[in-house]
Amino acid sequence: MKPVILILGGGTGGLMTAHFLHKKLGSSCRIIVFEKEEKNVFAPSLLWLMVGKRKTKDVYRSTKRVAKKGVELVSGNIEKINPELKSIQVNGKEYKGDYIVISLGADQKVVNNLSGKGFDFFTLNGADLFYDALQHFNGGKIAVLISSLPFKCPAAPYEAAMLIENAIRRKGMHDKTEIAVYTPESMPMSVAGKELAGAVEQMLEKKGIKYFPEHQFTEADFKTLTFTNGNSYSFDLLAYTPKHICPEIIANSLLVGKSGWIEANRNTMETNFSNVYAIGDITFIPLELGKPLPKAGVFAHYQAEVVANNIAEKIKGGTNMKTFNGSGQCFLEMGDGKAGYAGGNFYGSPLPLVKMKKPGYWWHWTKVMFEKYWFFKYF
Ligand SMILES: Cc1cc2nc3c(=O)[nH]c(=O)nc-3n(C[C@H](O)[C@H](O)[C@H](O)COP(=O)(O)OP(=O)(O)OC[C@H]3O[C@@H](n4cnc5c(N)ncnc54)[C@H](O)[C@@H]3O)c2cc1C
Repeated sequence: MKPVILILGGGTGGLMTAHFLHKKLGSSCRIIVFEKEEKNVFAPSLLWLMVGKRKTKDVYRSTKRVAKKGVELVSGNIEKINPELKSIQVNGKEYKGDYIVISLGADQKVVNNLSGKGFDFFTLNGADLFYDALQHFNGGKIAVLISSLPFKCPAAPYEAAMLIENAIRRKGMHDKTEIAVYTPESMPMSVAGKELAGAVEQMLEKKGIKYFPEHQFTEADFKTLTFTNGNSYSFDLLAYTPKHICPEIIANSLLVGKSGWIEANRNTMETNFSNVYAIGDITFIPLELGKPLPKAGVFAHYQAEVVANNIAEKIKGGTNMKTFNGSGQCFLEMGDGKAGYAGGNFYGSPLPLVKMKKPGYWWHWTKVMFEKYWFFKYF
């Protein structure tokens, strides 16, 4: 009998795991991906969608296309997981595997009265509707709100603010518009260090975007945001990040750690259960500086490569095991066709070693090329 590998979630991490496993093992194993959503969204493009740089249909592909020769797809909601037996239940049916890779991401919830007050730009619908509202916007105050921590892609809200500023300038409304970013963080992308945070703060300042760190949002009342420090902000247009939580089936299972997420081994991504791995946003990996590894697709991607390699080695009886070393990179869209690029080693000791390259047109076009490559290569 062929070994069976169950991949839970067909987002970034799940898709990459299936890809690398198939590349290594071909048809010598059964690879099954389980996914509940019909659309597979390329999340970085949501930022372009919210300012009209992409059409809705450009930023996703049908999940059905995850299934290809050697990779099976089961569409449906995973209802239960038993890591001891390496079994799951989907649509009432049980599936048993020899290996499990959990890449279920973070569930997103709109909380504290935000619903209906603005747009959750971390979703396809929210980014789409924000662009509709932006088209009808005639000046006033725009708030970009990080509603809670943690959130995925630490750069995304800052990119959103800069792209919105660019769109406002193109519409000739710069003089009658104020853009403000509110966040509970002490500085932008804080895990990457003070140098990068300072560079991002400077970018915001140059564009006239107001920045309010250490503002923990409490409530949205009609068109006013209030914060725990007693401050408030009245807005005309609002884009916000949702609350990120661990999916219930994991939160209610033996897999969850004290952090409320899966605390996998930071090098092998194996959980406390043998041959059960967890990668991407669902994991909590503490770093030396006391904060966790950020939730980002680039980490899900590299972790998938490591996990796929090690499962393949186990199946083939090989010993060429790999480890995830904490490396990661990200683009920072700035508007005007320019982007920055930062990368380094987040497992750096005592602090992550992350450097930023000089922003320019090149990084923007590299990000665009990556988007094209992603859809071409994997769908
Ligand atoms: C606006 C935005 C911009 C971003 N830009 C970047 C960027 O430039 N670079 C970067 O590195 N990262 C970026 N990210 C973050 C990146 O998208 C995530 O970190 C990445 O997708 C995480 O991968 P994952 O596999 O852990 O989770 P996901 O990609 O979220 O996949 C999880 C999958 O599991 C499925 N699932 C969950 N529960 C169930 C269930 N019970 N049954 C069946 N299926 C289920 C979900 O539907 C989902 O498809 C961005 C995110 C956003 C929102």
